[in-house]
Amino acid sequence: MKTYALTGGASGIGAAIKQQLLNEGHKVISVDIKDADIEADLSSSEGRSAAIAAIVTAANDGLDGFVACAGVGSHIENLGLIPRVNFFGAVELVEGLRELLSASKGAVVLISSNSAPMETDADYVDSLLAGDEDKAVERTAAMAGQAAYSGSKQALTRWMRRNNAGYAAQGVRLNAIGPGYTRTAMSAAVEQDPVYGPAIKEFVATIPLQRPGQPEDMAQAVSFLLGDAASFISGSMLFVDGGHDALFRP
Ligand code: NAD
Repeated sequence: MKTYALTGGASGIGAAIKQQLLNEGHKVISVDIKDADIEADLSSSEGRSAAIAAIVTAANDGLDGFVACAGVGSHIENLGLIPRVNFFGAVELVEGLRELLSASKGAVVLISSNSAPMETDADYVDSLLAGDEDKAVERTAAMAGQAAYSGSKQALTRWMRRNNAGYAAQGVRLNAIGPGYTRTAMSAAVEQDPVYGPAIKEFVATIPLQRPGQPEDMAQAVSFLLGDAASFISGSMLFVDGGHDALFRP
């Protein structure tokens, strides 16, 4: 039995990851803004610090892995929440848990997106990678929701790749998955959006494997990357998207 911490476990992909790890007999410490072992708002630095402290306390026998899954979609009104939750709500927790993970030679899986390679705002991505939260949030005022979202995932993935060697030297494997369109509350909300809804339906129709992803598809991939079968995989982004990224970037 291993001990894993997970953000975003109350819903969608995170809930499926939590269930998968529980089914495998592991202990799961769930962090979310609601319905979790540790309730914390990852959009603020206070919430992130409180979450880190509570995970450290709950994982008193050591932490074998961490999954950063909490996120908000492109449809939300307050676009500033996208960099706050999707980027800083993930990387600050990874950094805060670094020593604990190193002690157990643990693994981290970030839930990125297959939108990460898509076109976005380079200054926004640079601000995120520079750790300038105020600037990144400010930048979203001039951006479309989709660019703010894909940029947050691009920065998250690049952060993972840039920091991989340092973590690997401490015995911690960093990897990410890039889910494609997956049926969850988030994607249902985007489908209802008057701006993005029609485009999303066309987008889903072009998935090469001809079906949307299910949260369980993502959970299987995360379980693999966390586990010993992936012990030589580090710094990778695994697209779990029915072939969509390969279609976009042949
Ligand atoms: P979801 O809305 O079902 O789940 C998101 C979870 O994050 C919820 O439990 C929510 O409470 C939590 N959360 C949101 N804001 C938070 C905050 N401030 N503090 C703490 N927790 C917070 O969405 P989902 O589709 O399951 O998305 C999970 C992850 O997968 C996200 O990072 C998302 O960007 C990514 N993703 C989803 C899709 C998709 O098509 N659904 C595709 C690519 C990537």
